[in-house]
Amino acid sequence: MLQPGATIGMLGGGQLGRMFTIAARTLGYRVIVLEPDPQSPAGQLADQHIQAAYDDAQALQHLGQACDVITTEFENIPAQTLKLLSTYCPVHPSAEAVQVAQDRIVEKTFVRSCGLSPVPFIPVRSLADLQQAETQIQFPAILKTARLGYDGKGQITVNSIPEAEAAFKQLNQVDCVLEQRVELEREISVVLGRNQHGEVHCFPVAENEHRKGILHQTTVPARISAELEQQAKQAATTIATQLNFIGVMAVEFFVTKSGELLVNEMAPRTHNSGHYTLDACVTSQFEQQVRMVCDLPFGATRLVSPVVMINLLGDLWPEGGQPDWLQVFNEPETKLHLYGKASARKGRKMGHYCTLAATADEASIKANAIFQQLERVSE
Ligand code: ADP
Ligand code: MG
Repeated sequence: MLQPGATIGMLGGGQLGRMFTIAARTLGYRVIVLEPDPQSPAGQLADQHIQAAYDDAQALQHLGQACDVITTEFENIPAQTLKLLSTYCPVHPSAEAVQVAQDRIVEKTFVRSCGLSPVPFIPVRSLADLQQAETQIQFPAILKTARLGYDGKGQITVNSIPEAEAAFKQLNQVDCVLEQRVELEREISVVLGRNQHGEVHCFPVAENEHRKGILHQTTVPARISAELEQQAKQAATTIATQLNFIGVMAVEFFVTKSGELLVNEMAPRTHNSGHYTLDACVTSQFEQQVRMVCDLPFGATRLVSPVVMINLLGDLWPEGGQPDWLQVFNEPETKLHLYGKASARKGRKMGHYCTLAATADEASIKANAIFQQLERVSE
């Protein structure tokens, strides 16, 4: 077990790294962030910011020598980097566990090997592969790049094999998956911690609403049956266990109109749909990550209050100005989190807020009323 006072390395300087840094420093740990951007959300708050590329050998040596343990907030850290760092100190999660989530073909194949169901898909590595769609996929379908996609980027909806061929060319014929577009009853996710002894604790299941492929709202408790809640937690636990994952990770699921649970994707890190834990659970997902990588006991994952989390994208920022934050502060059970990003761009995650209430429905009404006010000001 690593006691407070020890030094934790964080690969990546985004908002997930920032909220981790806050949690770790609150508990008395030192944090060193490795991140190429000089003005990153996490770098600003860390004890030390090493400004370098993720494959900079000298910077990695410096980080490895200075840290007692290293973790990540970014799933696209090169596996080589994690392997190299593990020659200096423990790295959680491991390169092997992170690699599975870096490639949709590997990820979906792995999900099947766990006895779980991904969305029906075919791997697409060449134009010829698309012919299999005839027998294996129903259109409409979505062509997704196998690597480096996030927030709906690198995805094209297609209605036929010729359209899929055109889309594949548009994506420069990089490796892709073609997956069926399923009719969703709802989307849910499970964030969990898994420790070095194989124990798993799940946070309550989150219900997620996306807009244009980006998470907009998370509602907890999710409006699902107790059976489905258990099924999702069990599936996420199986995935974490089969990956031998250490740290905090998330699994995104689709619930189909017929009530079937499909695995969409996983993230080998804390997750946007777990931000509600900051204000509504005994322990946040970020504190849990500190606890897992330092081999501390689990913090309780109990929900203290129904909650709705809403993302604040750069779209809400008026040209050269700020949203009218009084709209958020005026609602006394709403907690604002801003990530310290210098410039607002469309689709960029700038912050979020959590609204608490006696019921999830009430929290949703209050949270959306605030959002409408913020949208009005940005117009
Ligand atoms: P990302 O890596 O960008 O999060 P996802 O595969 O999770 O990519 O897609 C983002 C969102 O797009 C999903 O949360 C869901 O709302 C929608 N989506 C993606 N794939 C499908 C699908 N096969 N059927 C229906 N909706 C989908
Ligand atoms: Mg996703």
